[in-house]
Amino acid sequence: MALIKCPECGKDVSDTAKMCPHCGYKIKIRKSILLLLDDTMNFVISEILNIVLIIVGIFMFNKGKEEMLFWVQAKRELGVEDAMYCIKNISKYTLMKNTGIVLICVGIIAAISFAIYKFSSKNEESDKA
Ligand SMILES: [Zn+2]
Repeated sequence: MALIKCPECGKDVSDTAKMCPHCGYKIKIRKSILLLLDDTMNFVISEILNIVLIIVGIFMFNKGKEEMLFWVQAKRELGVEDAMYCIKNISKYTLMKNTGIVLICVGIIAAISFAIYKFSSKNEESDKA
């Protein structure tokens, strides 16, 4: 457990507190998660996780797209009796492909926001000094 400064009154507040006991200011949980990034090790680990997320996303997107195209082709060739099986696979791999895109976007957005946060909090520190 660590102490953070209340953004409203500036007094020390536990980072696990949802509300400042001095002035009642509601401390956002998101803020305390971002404060973890002040530690360089945490920041590096978070960025590595983001990159892993992006890589997994790219893998899922490629695999999903490949399989989806395969089953689209198969549906055309196999004919009506297997169409339902093909359609099931097509929607399954379309979902995989789209999940991949979401993971890539989330990973990129998180990586950029973490970097911006880290960069801006570093500037604040050097302004104070
Ligand atoms: Zn306060």
